[in-house]
Amino acid sequence: MIRIDNLGKRFGELEVLKGVSTTISKGEVISIIGPSGCGKSTLLRCLNLLEQPTAGRIFVDDVELTQSSDVPALRQRMNMVFQNFNLFAHFTVLENLTLGPVKLLKKSPAEAEERARALLHMVGLADRADHLPHELSGGQKQRVAIARCLAMDPEVMLLDEPTSALDPTMVSEVLAVIRNLAKRGLTMLIVTHEMDFARDVSSRVFYMDEGRIYEEGPPGQIFDHPQRDRTKAFIHRIRTFQAVIDSPNVDIFALHADIGRFCDKHLLPPKAKHNAELLVEELIQILMPDLMAGKALGLTIDYSESKRQLILSLELPPGVGNPLVAEDEFAELSLRLINNLADSTGCETLDSGALKIEIRIKQA
Ligand code: ADP
Ligand code: MG
Repeated sequence: MIRIDNLGKRFGELEVLKGVSTTISKGEVISIIGPSGCGKSTLLRCLNLLEQPTAGRIFVDDVELTQSSDVPALRQRMNMVFQNFNLFAHFTVLENLTLGPVKLLKKSPAEAEERARALLHMVGLADRADHLPHELSGGQKQRVAIARCLAMDPEVMLLDEPTSALDPTMVSEVLAVIRNLAKRGLTMLIVTHEMDFARDVSSRVFYMDEGRIYEEGPPGQIFDHPQRDRTKAFIHRIRTFQAVIDSPNVDIFALHADIGRFCDKHLLPPKAKHNAELLVEELIQILMPDLMAGKALGLTIDYSESKRQLILSLELPPGVGNPLVAEDEFAELSLRLINNLADSTGCETLDSGALKIEIRIKQA
């Protein structure tokens, strides 16, 4: 259905896409992942002709996009949903959905409205037709944007980080709508940081790096058995939360929020998240004298996908006492608390002389 042939894009001296080639069949759902700045948005924008490619060719059903002059018609075939919704602020929800079809698809207003209402119903917003965008939550705005995209009857829907501008509580309602569309067989290319979602919904995953599709494959390959070095490093990075705690005035609330976001991304049970937060808080309490003495603690939280388990490790520089060994009553109490939050604990001394403690966090 879509063939991309050695697509290149440069902005002046900066060569962002250095030859992207692939073919995409009807009904495929493709997630595009990769480090920030690797050209994911640029690729979607080239497919939508919001950017003019500087090399290569794009075919849709054997029609060459890069040769065609009818840009609006092509944009309609591969319609895009943006990170920041891009709704028309001064038009109602319904008008946002009918403007394009009436103007560009030459639908009658009545026909456009009927379809718009059906789509609003599908995304759960039938009762918001007469609202203005600013009266909606972020999640609702993005669902309207998805409905507006569909109102153009696209063959392919392009979504550029559709949930990254949303409050975490609203991510799942938007993902649910996209999941539903995937089930209905809509062809989609989705740039996303929601790895669990990508695994769940996609038929193929593109890992982009070095200006190309560096590795592609079914989600099981990319997430569990990446073949190439950069993919492996990327996947490892996103599974790992790291922080250096180097001050007694550490912002514990910000740290909690960061840990919470990390857990949410992997759709971990709320209990696991809660336990991780309590553990970190307790460990910081125990090690407060060391923090006051200027020692820095390296905190890592790893998510093991296969075991669906969170593993917290803490690296303590030489001279810091092991918080898993209780020397007085007070420490004993803390230790009991830690053990209650853990499936198991362990420690080892590293070559550097630092002590590394490892705690497998209880999930339930
Ligand atoms: P991603 O979406 O993967 O984070 P982008 O496609 O947005 O990456 O950007 C890739 C690179 O291209 C970045 O270095 C970005 O700064 C640059 N870039 C994107 N759009 C433009 C533009 N219109 N003009 C100049 N540079 C751009
Ligand atoms: Mg981007």
